[in-house]
Amino acid sequence: MDFNLPEELQMLQQTVRQFVDKELIPIEMQSKDGVELKPDVKTRLEKKTRDMGLWMLDVPEEYGGAGLDLLAQVVVWEQLARTAALPSRGETIFGPEVRPILYSLNDEQKQRYFYPVVKGEKTMCFAQTEPDAGSDPGSMKTRAVRHGDHYIVNGVKRFITDAEKADFAQVMVVTDPAKGSHGGISCLLVDMNTPGVKITARYKTIMGDEPCEIVFEDAKVPAANLVGKEGEGFKLAQKWLSVGRLRHGARAIGIAERCIEMGSSYAKQRVTFGKPLAERQAIQWKLADSYIELHAARLMVYQAAWKSDQGEDTRNEAYMAKLYADEMSVRVVDRVLQIHGGIGLTLDLPLAKWFVDQRSRLITEGASEVMRMVIARHVLKTYG
Ligand SMILES: Cc1cc2nc3c(=O)[nH]c(=O)nc-3n(C[C@H](O)[C@H](O)[C@H](O)COP(=O)(O)OP(=O)(O)OC[C@H]3O[C@@H](n4cnc5c(N)ncnc54)[C@H](O)[C@@H]3O)c2cc1C
Repeated sequence: MDFNLPEELQMLQQTVRQFVDKELIPIEMQSKDGVELKPDVKTRLEKKTRDMGLWMLDVPEEYGGAGLDLLAQVVVWEQLARTAALPSRGETIFGPEVRPILYSLNDEQKQRYFYPVVKGEKTMCFAQTEPDAGSDPGSMKTRAVRHGDHYIVNGVKRFITDAEKADFAQVMVVTDPAKGSHGGISCLLVDMNTPGVKITARYKTIMGDEPCEIVFEDAKVPAANLVGKEGEGFKLAQKWLSVGRLRHGARAIGIAERCIEMGSSYAKQRVTFGKPLAERQAIQWKLADSYIELHAARLMVYQAAWKSDQGEDTRNEAYMAKLYADEMSVRVVDRVLQIHGGIGLTLDLPLAKWFVDQRSRLITEGASEVMRMVIARHVLKTYG
């Protein structure tokens, strides 16, 4: 058993770390809302990531991407998370985000949706959540009824990130209410300019991003836009959800590491009652606990990514890694913010932003309670 990263991944890690230290950390507090990069900054950084061979990290080389396996992606995401310069959701400086669902498209659909996304000509959003169906998507109501060569879609989707910018949405719909989540939910690609598709609300969040509500009123969607077979929506979703969870985990460990760097450095400089904070046990224990938990989370995230690259089912490992790493990062940010005192609460440092962002991660893309529920199911099935 070898726990060391392969040499080429160690080199990749160093390259991205240096890029973050040199290019991103110095500008990270320029945009205090931290949601969008300025266009000229984005263009400059994009040129650098292209030059480093990191354009479209996870896209296979045959489509012009870097073709990194999951462990390599985790290594990159972890390093990138050490800075608050990049928006925590949405656009990146690594080219268009090609959501894994697009690989499941047939050749004709790829021409209309996949290639335009890869070329940066179209963007998409993912619409699953509804006002009465968040953690329990099986209770969704948005209905698609087949009429000859098209579907008629009616329903409401809520909290959809990037809906306003998207050219099309990947919409999860009920095609067979009797089957529900056991073969009754399908995935449709819906052009956002389809008559009957409207953005009806925008929610301001504490993180700064503004997910939207989309209403579908008798929207006519070609049957040719069905992804996979009817009723396969949930099965397809499983294919990419583990990747998203490990991305969460990698982000959490990157943030935690930078917080520990910041906490240690500040504790050495800041003198109270005649001594640096670093000499106080109350402060040392915050750093020690943070370091131990970061180590555990990193092992979990790396192991799950490595196992996935071996072609094994890593659903449970991905759940555990996402849950543990996200919760760990909230504890670490909280401790390090505490070490900084009042300055930790200002927007001169990234701590307050991470405090809010990482807290939000315990709700979005799989709330902690739901992760625990799924892990408990596995435990009860496996033991006793
Ligand atoms: C900023 C933001 C962006 C988002 N982007 C998208 C997007 O792009 N696309 C999309 O489809 N959705 C998106 N969402 C929706 C997000 O995925 C949901 O908010 C999330 O799944 C939780 O659903 P909910 O809000 O309905 O909470 P609920 O499901 O109502 O849950 C409320 C609370 O109860 C807990 N809970 C639920 N069930 C149980 C149980 N069985 N046992 C114990 N506790 C339970 C939950 O953990 C949670 O703490 C986004 C949300 C936000 C805030």
